[in-house]
Amino acid sequence: MINYTERISTLMRDIVARVPRLSYIDPDELLVFARYGRSGAEGAFATCHCLSLPDSEPGYYYWRDRETGSITRRSRWFVTKSPSVSIKGRPIPYLVSFALPRFCNQTLAGARKEKYYRKGTPGWIAKLDTVVHELYHIDPAASGIRHVERADGLPSNSSHGRDFLKTVADMVREYLASDPDLTTYEFLRYNFSELEQRYGGVTATTFRNYPSYPQRYIELLPPSQQLDIPPSVPIQPLKIRRKPIAFTHADLTVRQFLTDSTRRIVL
Ligand SMILES: [Zn+2]
Repeated sequence: MINYTERISTLMRDIVARVPRLSYIDPDELLVFARYGRSGAEGAFATCHCLSLPDSEPGYYYWRDRETGSITRRSRWFVTKSPSVSIKGRPIPYLVSFALPRFCNQTLAGARKEKYYRKGTPGWIAKLDTVVHELYHIDPAASGIRHVERADGLPSNSSHGRDFLKTVADMVREYLASDPDLTTYEFLRYNFSELEQRYGGVTATTFRNYPSYPQRYIELLPPSQQLDIPPSVPIQPLKIRRKPIAFTHADLTVRQFLTDSTRRIVL
């Protein structure tokens, strides 16, 4: 079977080595994993997750009365934090997730980025574009995600803007013009069923608590820091589900991805 995320990691190393504008990226600081994403359904093909964002400012949720506008309930003060991931003792500031099989069936036709490519460009180049796109989200100042995401790590509604998409397409051309070894990127030419036929199945790295993965979490501030809560407003307790907040190599596993589902495989 083809391990799709391993192939993407190898490809990313090659891209970073060949495209000068991405040379600030250290491939050892990236971890590629897969999430399930149905083909043809709405949703991202891939996402760049930054784990080095600082804790948020303290905040709280509140509920207002629709008519009077007054606050009827509120939560205690909390901050949001990033989980940590380290592989063989090395902290990993960026995760890049790919939605399988959706990503494998991506093509240029009708995509927003299509206009940055010449007519007749093969459809699978859309996948190479996405790989470069996610790398380009890594901020050279190492302070988070370039352009698109808000400081709290949530995706912003704003589009990437013309320059982002055009620069990505330029870097895709730059990579291909550097004459990379076909075996490094050839797997992108095949859609999901072609991959299954050719390799007997598609596997990928996931976290053991699949479908979960490291995500920002809420931590209540200690009682001494629960300031300024007017006694007249009832406190709504937050349902905080205990999730793992530190991950290592031991939390990774490999799953097989199928058209409609995934399954654990025993290595
Ligand atoms: Zn993006």
